[in-house]
Amino acid sequence: MNETQFDLIIIGGGPAGQSAALMAGRTRLKTAFINAEDPRNFVTTASHGFLTRDGAHPSEILTVAKDQLKKYTTVDYVKDRVTNVARTPSGFSATLMDGRILHGKKMLIATGHKDNLAELELPGLEAVYGKSVYPCPFCDGFEHKDEALAIFGHSVVQHFVPMMRVWSKDLVVFTNGKALDDHTKAELVSKGVPVEESKVEALISTDGKLTHVELEGGRKVVRQSGFVVEEFSSPATNFAEQLGVIPTEENDWGMKELAGASGTTNIPGLYVVGDARIGFSGIAAAVAEGGFCVEMMLHELAMERWGALPEVMV
Ligand SMILES: Cc1cc2nc3c(=O)[nH]c(=O)nc-3n(C[C@H](O)[C@H](O)[C@H](O)COP(=O)(O)OP(=O)(O)OC[C@H]3O[C@@H](n4cnc5c(N)ncnc54)[C@H](O)[C@@H]3O)c2cc1C
Repeated sequence: MNETQFDLIIIGGGPAGQSAALMAGRTRLKTAFINAEDPRNFVTTASHGFLTRDGAHPSEILTVAKDQLKKYTTVDYVKDRVTNVARTPSGFSATLMDGRILHGKKMLIATGHKDNLAELELPGLEAVYGKSVYPCPFCDGFEHKDEALAIFGHSVVQHFVPMMRVWSKDLVVFTNGKALDDHTKAELVSKGVPVEESKVEALISTDGKLTHVELEGGRKVVRQSGFVVEEFSSPATNFAEQLGVIPTEENDWGMKELAGASGTTNIPGLYVVGDARIGFSGIAAAVAEGGFCVEMMLHELAMERWGALPEVMV
């Protein structure tokens, strides 16, 4: 890539960025598509719930996307990391690791979230995360149906547990040293869901497969898989806020949103989509957001170009 001037700079190439890049190519936008290729979901064995790619590893989806983007010659794919962003008189700039500075009239941030596993204080989590313990039951519940499931969390278990019974009726809640309120605890227990409030000493596993949850004092509870229901991720970059985006208030799940559903932010020309926008969008929604956002953006750009057209005498 020798050019440095673009209509659009897309930062981040997960499903949201990939889909944005596809629509950018189809609308012939001169686009720089920068992707560090280290999304948080690469730890998983397989992705589920995205029609036609159910069961594919996220890296497989990226490979196909990169291949399909090749025919859209206005899109420059660059495997690199953006280290800095700025607002400029003509739009935005992005600095790459190698020092190059790219300029775009519009900028779309799709850098996702990163998981902060250590925050959960669940020793042994790293070995099972994405293999038998997951953040999302819609993504991986089906593969563990009717297993002995562990639910790790305390703040939203009252919403989560009723839903989890779709996948298994053998549930145990582990609050990891936090006390549940009396009402929630009594309700869970009365409906046959044991609650373990002791600190978790270790998640014991073999080859990524959870076998037991060991509690303080040494007691071990047999479990085959599990889901974490606490929020433990944060934006992978602070680019949006650095450029002046004001997040919304926290939603019911404790997440702030950085843009509306079409990716539009309070900064004209700046868009945020996918997990970067909402914390955990899922692949199908991230794809939908990326594509839709570029359609909206194209309309804005077209109107700007239209306004700048010189009038011809007829
Ligand atoms: C363990 C796990 C399992 C999951 N399983 C499923 C599943 O089965 N089904 C499902 O629908 N969803 C699943 N999800 C959720 C899903 O992965 C995300 O919702 C989705 O990938 C969000 O897409 P995104 O494009 O917004 O962000 P991401 O997929 O996170 O992509 C962000 C991209 O931005 C890049 N990036 C970050 N910073 C920079 C930078 N400074 N410069 C350049 N590039 C940068 C990253 O390298 C990455 O490629 C799972 C998530 C996790 C953590």
